[in-house]
Amino acid sequence: MDGFDFNLRKFNTSNIYSYFLNHEEATKQDLASSLNLTLPTVNKNIDYLTGLGLIQASGSRGQTGGRRAITYSLVSEAKVALGLDITKHHVSCVAVDLNGEIVAFNRNWLVFEYTDSYFKNVAGLLNEFIKANKIDEKKILGVGIGIPALVQSDNKTVFYSGIMDFREDTYDMFSKYIHYDIAMFNDAKASCFAEKWVNKDIMNTFYIMLSNNVGGAMIINGQVYSGDNFRSAEVGHITLVPNGRQCYCGQCGCVDPYLAATNLSQDDLAGYFETLKTTTDEKILDAWERYLDYTAQTVNIVRAVLDCDIILGGYVGAYLEPYLADIKKRAMKISTFDKDAEFIKLCSYKHESIAAGAALHYVSDFIKTI
Ligand SMILES: [Zn+2]
Repeated sequence: MDGFDFNLRKFNTSNIYSYFLNHEEATKQDLASSLNLTLPTVNKNIDYLTGLGLIQASGSRGQTGGRRAITYSLVSEAKVALGLDITKHHVSCVAVDLNGEIVAFNRNWLVFEYTDSYFKNVAGLLNEFIKANKIDEKKILGVGIGIPALVQSDNKTVFYSGIMDFREDTYDMFSKYIHYDIAMFNDAKASCFAEKWVNKDIMNTFYIMLSNNVGGAMIINGQVYSGDNFRSAEVGHITLVPNGRQCYCGQCGCVDPYLAATNLSQDDLAGYFETLKTTTDEKILDAWERYLDYTAQTVNIVRAVLDCDIILGGYVGAYLEPYLADIKKRAMKISTFDKDAEFIKLCSYKHESIAAGAALHYVSDFIKTI
């Protein structure tokens, strides 16, 4: 087979597979007409993908009594990618299928320390998770690890870690005990990747991750913009209050110490937002008012610089629906150009977006190989 035929075959196979990623089922005729392919080409590819166990005959369609056409659909569980979210006190594990759906997750209390036994324990939690959810090890594509640190494009080298003490050999420490392919991702970038997964048509967007630390990621022209030094979108370290609260980075007054989720609750955000609905406690209400203002101010800075949609995500973003109108109002009050605040959006991927986003990189890479 020459190169041209090979590329064309791969192109057709990958188009057919993508079709199944976006449609619940399809007949051969659907594929032929939607993708402008001949039936023999469709037949060959269906046989090939079925042989790999990536699609399956799932039913039939047509008149009763007449000839019924077989429908095919994706075998979403053919492969699975795992993701970890590593924070100061917790390790979350998720499994995502080829549709990008979370099929299993759990959250474990494990206090971070840069010791051999810590990394061994993380691997232990992951193995228990695999066993408890009866995940077939042969199907595992890899383990994406979201960490609150900056990571080079090799997904191995940590080069800034102000929050937790990740060191240069972090990758080796993980891979010493986790016996699958692994890759490390900055937490906010992973979260943003999950967001882009569910909103594939995002072109220009700034994602603000309001988790136990504040991070960001930006998508420009549909691509993640990493910056010259892989430090783009670090919104947590914009000076919000001159000489203000101490930030873990060593500076004072950064966005992070004002918008980190830990300002609201150390460990129970769901409980915090439940309380917020009914509380009359002035202290809680005042602190919340200030949080909303700081959020609006941060949004205003990003909007003024980038003039694009802004997604509020992370742990806090998942609870902001009832407060979005209020945030918009506050942002409008200080905006120079905008006539409305429709550019402020809430994240669609509300839970475990860091771990899922880290895992989804493996799914995305796998799909590209088909
Ligand atoms: Zn800072």
